Amino acid sequence: MTDALDTRPHVADLPSDSVAALPQRRRLVTEVPGPRSRALHERKMAAVASGVGTTLPVYVERAGGGVIIDVDGNSLIDLGSGIAVVNVGNANPRVVEAVTEQVARFTHTCFMVTPYEGYVAVCEALYRVTPGDHAKKSALFNSGAEAVENAVKVARHATGRDAVVVFDHAYHGRTNLTMAMTAKAMPYKTGFGPFAGEVYRAPMSYPFREAAPMSGAEAAARAIAVIDKQVGADQVAAVVIEPIQGEGGFVVPALGFLPAIADWCKANGIVFVADEIQTGFGRTGTMFACEHEGVVPDLITTAKGIAGGLPLAAVTGRAELMDAVHGGGLGGTYGGNPIACAAALAAISAMAQDDLPTRAQAIGDVMLSRLHSLAVEHPQIGDVRGRGAMVAIELVRPGTTEPDAAEAARISAACHRAGVVTLTCGTFGNVLRLLPPLVIDDALLREALDVLADAIAAR
Ligand SMILES: *Cc1c(COP(=O)(O)O)cnc(C)c1O
Repeated sequence: MTDALDTRPHVADLPSDSVAALPQRRRLVTEVPGPRSRALHERKMAAVASGVGTTLPVYVERAGGGVIIDVDGNSLIDLGSGIAVVNVGNANPRVVEAVTEQVARFTHTCFMVTPYEGYVAVCEALYRVTPGDHAKKSALFNSGAEAVENAVKVARHATGRDAVVVFDHAYHGRTNLTMAMTAKAMPYKTGFGPFAGEVYRAPMSYPFREAAPMSGAEAAARAIAVIDKQVGADQVAAVVIEPIQGEGGFVVPALGFLPAIADWCKANGIVFVADEIQTGFGRTGTMFACEHEGVVPDLITTAKGIAGGLPLAAVTGRAELMDAVHGGGLGGTYGGNPIACAAALAAISAMAQDDLPTRAQAIGDVMLSRLHSLAVEHPQIGDVRGRGAMVAIELVRPGTTEPDAAEAARISAACHRAGVVTLTCGTFGNVLRLLPPLVIDDALLREALDVLADAIAAR
């Protein structure tokens, strides 16, 4: 065994008392990744299954605000938020305090055995913050995929129907049912079948990739025609959709698409499920992305941003749907773990106190205006899109819509070398996405965008 102490960082210049006081700056003291990260990565390669990938092999020592400090003492700007998780900032002081207090009192009893207030309070908070003023109930789980699975269970039980409709480019998780619901084969599905049945795919509204301009209403009519012909509305338990697609490429549907799909679901007794696992908790400039178009989902799945980095997920929805399931039909050993619930309560209150949805909007304005001006100079930027602090550029061969995944990878790698953590996504792998923590300061955000601009220009 390698001595773990070998890889302790040189971060003597960091304050030891408070992560919140981490200097908010980009500062590279080694190449990226540095020698300590490379040593840890060797250990990873030897001990961790190679199916578990690594975007950027810098090993983390601390993180907070808009920075990640690695084990070599480099300070990187975080434009990924651990995939839209640490919206309130890494190790947010309020989350740390709540978790510390809870972990000292009790760590687990199983809510289904001997319950506790935190779980109930999280469900009450979800009642308040999710769209719609109808009676709502929630159930808590551990991961986004588990929430999606349970939303389907609820919808099937409540409707007595089997079929589940999802969309092109959708991402809903890596479990058997959610793999079936996810569109992209490689890396999510290839070799992992057979998949769960009764999952049907409809065309998405993807304005950049329509053969001809198409309104949201027209795109909805196209999707509904496919569902009607290939499934039959009366067979459909649920339509599950990300209001803005995440892994599939930050696809923002044309205005009117979501409301038209939701209306059609309502008219046909179909449960409309908004998968807000990536878009939720202030990310897009409103608490939930559905709110941009006044859509009120029957069920909403949440995870990622809910608990400041602790694993927690939820299904929240119309009380009569959620209560359709027999006692004991929903749950899990760890679902709604008390520490994760304490974190969620602190994170949700931090979002309100610091008005993070408004901050996300301001971050989005800075990012979008910069990216739009970069798109004028650089013809490989085919599209700039997103809402709030969830924005992306789609890279193409200049003058076409032909995807250029290599260019997205090149830009992302150049950002990494310069100390900015960026992520790619998209069915075609050609989308560079920006998801900064909502507590990032303006100077750091602008510096990250400067680095991105240099990376794009370095072609
Ligand atoms: C990440 C994600 C999931 C899966 O969540 P996990 O916690 O990784 O299981 C599901 N849906 C969407 C939209 C996501 O972004």
